[in-house]
Order: sequence, then C-alpha cells, then structure tokens
Amino acid sequence: MKKQKKIYIVDVTNRDGVQTSRLGLAKLQKTMINIYLNEMGVYQSEFGFPVTRHETNYLNANLELARIGALKPIILSGWVRAIREDVEKACKLTKVENLNLSISTSDQMINGKFMGKFSKEDVISEMTEAVDTAKRLGIKLIGVNAEDASRTDLDYLIKFSRAAKKRGAARIRYCDTLGYDDPFTIYERVKLLAEEVKLPIELHCHNDLGMVVAVSLAGAKAAIDAGVDAYINTTVNGMGERAGNADLVSVILAIKYSSGFKGRYVLDEHVKLSRAWKIAKYASYAFGVPIPINQPGVGANAFAHESGIHADGALKDRRNYELYDYEELGRGEPEIIETGRQITAGEYSGIKGFRNVYEKLEIKFKNEKEATNILDLVRYANVHTQQPLIEDELRFIAKYPDIAKKIFTMAP
Ligand SMILES: [Zn+2]
Repeated sequence: MKKQKKIYIVDVTNRDGVQTSRLGLAKLQKTMINIYLNEMGVYQSEFGFPVTRHETNYLNANLELARIGALKPIILSGWVRAIREDVEKACKLTKVENLNLSISTSDQMINGKFMGKFSKEDVISEMTEAVDTAKRLGIKLIGVNAEDASRTDLDYLIKFSRAAKKRGAARIRYCDTLGYDDPFTIYERVKLLAEEVKLPIELHCHNDLGMVVAVSLAGAKAAIDAGVDAYINTTVNGMGERAGNADLVSVILAIKYSSGFKGRYVLDEHVKLSRAWKIAKYASYAFGVPIPINQPGVGANAFAHESGIHADGALKDRRNYELYDYEELGRGEPEIIETGRQITAGEYSGIKGFRNVYEKLEIKFKNEKEATNILDLVRYANVHTQQPLIEDELRFIAKYPDIAKKIFTMAP
C-alpha cells in the first residue's frame, strides 16, 4: 500500500525569526526554542546560520544536545546560501548534518540582486555545485530553497528543481518570499511543480498581504494532491521578516480543524498541540513581543465570551462558539505569579540569593564549588538575555553546565 502523504512542520523561528529587524534571541533562548519544539514533536528546526561566526558555538552545542539525546528526535538544519564556499565553511565551522541551500530564482532578484553577476543558467550551476559539495562533505539532508519562487517563471522553477533533484536534493523549498501568492495561485503553481519534479515541497510563506496561513495550507494541499509530502515552514507567534511568517500554532489548528482539511489532510502525528501555550508564551517573553489579544489559540481572547448570546451559548455547549478546546492547547492551568518579595537571578546576583532561587526549584548542589560554577553560568546567561531567567532556563543550566558554557561563549 502506498504510504499516506503528510504535512510536516519545519519551524524557522531560529532563522527567519531572529534575522528580522528589531527582533533577536540570545543563544540560550534559541536553545530553549529548539528544546520546546522538540517537546512539541515538531519535525525539524532550522536552527541557525552555520557560516555566521557568533553562531558556531551555539550550533555545535545544540548538535551535542542532539547526540546525547536531549534534543531528539527533532532534525536540526542550518541555512546557507547555495554557493560552494558557504557549504564548505558551514562544514568546517560546525558539525551540522542537514542544510538548506538558498538562492534567488526570480528575474526580479536575478537582475535586481545579482546585477549581472549570475545569469539564470549560472544560478542553476551555482546551486548544483553547492549540492554536490554538500553531498561530498557528508550532509545527510539537503534542501534546496528557491528564493522568491512565487515570482519565478514556472518553467524555469521546474528546470531548477529538476536539476536539484538530479544532484540529490531531498526537498524543494518554495519561498513566497514577499507574501505575493494567494491560496489559489500557490495551489496551481505548487501542484504543477510537484507533479513535474516529484520531490517533497516545503512551503515558506510570508504575511505581507495577510494570507500567510491560508497560503501555506493551500501550498501543502497542492503538494499532497500531487502525491508528495508537504513541509510547512512556521515560526512561533509568526515572528519573521516584515509582516512575519506562518504562525506555528495557527498552522496546526488550521490543518486539524478547518472544514476542508479536517479528516482529509494528515498532520504529522507526533505534533503535540498541548505544548502550544508554553512555547507561545516563552517566545513572547524571549522576543519581548506580546501575544496579540486576538491571536488564534493562544491570545487572551481566544476563548473569551462576553456578549449575552455568545456567553450563554458557549456555556450550554462549547461547540456552539468554539471549534476546539482550550485544554488541548495546554491552557487552563492557573499561573502562579509571585506578588510579594521576589529574588531573581541576574548578572550581578550573589550566592545567597541565587541559592534561594534554585531551592525554590528543588535543585540541590553537591558542594560549594558546583554552586559557584552554576552561579557563574547564570550570570553569563543574564548578560546575554538581559531579563530574569525562567525556571526552565535555570534548570537547563544546572543540568547541562558544560553545554551551557559553550552556548554562552562567543569568540570574535
Ligand atoms: Zn523568509
């Protein structure tokens, strides 16, 4: 029997999310996002930039977490330009095993960005050389990204994708880089692309016209209708370039509960929506960007009813006014907020206050030396995050001090 085609999630918060203007995450926060994505059962995290020097220790430390089983089974993949030099440098600086290789394919960008440096043929040969290099250097999963695919001549995109497949690429990432597609155009284009190339398709979409979740789903539907797997690129809370990317929780909800997808299109069964609340809250804290009150699933008003008819209806039967349950998203537990004295751990904390913070977490240290060592790391962590560490971050540092130390270390 033919295996049923599915929709998988590739989260790009740690790549698109952090490259965004005015948004950034400390390396510890990026690590926590990887850990939460893994706990949530997300298939893959595009966890950073292997040719960017300040990422090196963070990337290698996270790969080490994967090796010791603390970040498993999530696939960690890096993002580089589809040129030989970048692939070589990525493999030299890091132990990265999976790479996405990206190059622009639209006439607009080939003319407007490369300014005559590359012709359309050159773009294909640069890309195939990069794929060959990745293969030679032992990269396991090679994805090829067509930047600005939605404004790319479709015949050329098919030719480009066939060349990538021939060299051993496992997937084609269709990038709607400017959020130009609508659900109908992306469906038609991706369907044809997938039928012609017969490779799994990644949908990387942006929200410039406010349609990003719908466009991502329409692209996924096209891939599956054409007989290949679909991979939707998401970010936590939709953080990403300009108007952002497809919000992770919204995408999951839309696949599970929209009228045309529910029961027909299958989401990777490992995804646990029950972690939605936790990861959305964490990303909001780490980015310093509040969750909008009307955000699907995780916004403060997502399950709030006030008007007479709605409140009465929701109380009689939740299905009157709710498509899905708040409990399913991990909501509903009361949150304990300390309103009296608080001792927080920061970059200038001393050993006594710090002991108090860890005692509350019921974490004990073997001796003074270990306590001092962890305190030192917590101070460094705070230098990076510039806000009080949350419990999971404190636990992480106490559990993996050596790896945490690497994450905090950046040598220019
Ligand atoms: Zn993007």
